[in-house]
Amino acid sequence: MRLLSSVLLSLILLPAAPAAWKAGVAKVNITPTEPIWMSGYAARVHPSEGVYAPIYVKAVALEDDAGNKTVLVTGDLVGFTKFITDPVFEAARKRWGLSRERLAINASHTHSGPLAGQVDRPVYRLEDKYAVVVKRYTDKLIEDVIGVIGAALDDMAPAEVAFEQGYAGFAVNRRRVGHREYPGPTDHDVPVLTVRGADGKLRAVVFGYACHATVMNEYEIHGDYPGFAQAELERRFPGATALFMAGCGADQNPLPRRRMELTRMYGEILAEAVDQVVAGKMKPLGGTIQAIYATPRVHFQKAPTRAEIEARIPKLSAYEKRHSEYLLERLDQDGKLAEGYDYPIRVWRMGDALTWVTLGGEVVVDYGLQLKEALGPDTTWVSGYTDDVFAYIPTARIIDEGGYEGATSMLGYGWPAPFEPSIERTILERVKALARGFE
Ligand SMILES: [Zn+2]
Repeated sequence: MRLLSSVLLSLILLPAAPAAWKAGVAKVNITPTEPIWMSGYAARVHPSEGVYAPIYVKAVALEDDAGNKTVLVTGDLVGFTKFITDPVFEAARKRWGLSRERLAINASHTHSGPLAGQVDRPVYRLEDKYAVVVKRYTDKLIEDVIGVIGAALDDMAPAEVAFEQGYAGFAVNRRRVGHREYPGPTDHDVPVLTVRGADGKLRAVVFGYACHATVMNEYEIHGDYPGFAQAELERRFPGATALFMAGCGADQNPLPRRRMELTRMYGEILAEAVDQVVAGKMKPLGGTIQAIYATPRVHFQKAPTRAEIEARIPKLSAYEKRHSEYLLERLDQDGKLAEGYDYPIRVWRMGDALTWVTLGGEVVVDYGLQLKEALGPDTTWVSGYTDDVFAYIPTARIIDEGGYEGATSMLGYGWPAPFEPSIERTILERVKALARGFE
């Protein structure tokens, strides 16, 4: 009786413990089972030849103390485009009531993965026999991404989630290659999110880095340095799933490169950076996960007229010609060329310890650096390559400098002209406003 009353007393006097978060983790092998066109380089002339290492899509589902479910998906691919993610978002909404602000889909940007999604962009104009394989792979990929989300949601169990950041130094600002006079900012932070079970055992580790996955450019399928980093972490933490989120690394390359030993070495350096964060003191996440999503319009510069395109074609290289012919096809089909794009932005606020921004496209490093400065460098994670990789996202400075990220990459993506310099302000101001809206 005394025991019972003391239990009752403590129940009355103790504040209610916060409801713990839950988490689920899943992964699906998406290694192509037949030779397939590879993504990332226009210079490749035939499909893949063999597999060096398997590639995956993976998911972590989090459930906060209010019961909100939030899911992140990562994949060893050059990029998810909306042709893949739109059907996934639709299925996730219908099957699990998961809205866009609570589902992020990020690609590692490996340049040694299969082509998936849109095949008619000027960078890859495939013969029909190759396009059929890409279509078959894409259909399966969409099912696999939906499947991995469902598997993570089915895996929900009590979890402790924590965040902290480390450092790794192999990303080099590639715009300085041939232009040593350029400023060359880099972002060497390694953000890490851990998911532990009630027994304290690591179930998932999500980590990011702002650098192209372009060590190799040959014909074997693998996940480049992010793939090796994930494999190394899964080796070091048996039973845990490692997920890589590409950061704002559009103007960053792993240098030096082009040897498989270097791919493995950068993977190990990154895994070691993550391991040291995991071994140290991390900030626990709790409370409610707030989420918001927006698509501000970003604008292209004035498109050329049909007469201007037709007049320039005889003077162009084969690659530039493909782009101009693509624009003429767009004019024939759509009657006009694109003037702008609805740019996907998502912000997650996970208690006081983490504001997580996800951005579409290939985002240059200045966005990550500026947002971290504005929102707090210790508590902000900025991921690029999320939801829809449809173009490079340069700043006003890089548009002014020109070059690949500022101008000529628009050819491969099939856009009529570079972005207006206002793109930088549009994106930064909107992200800051969304993040401040949580307070
Ligand atoms: Zn790229």
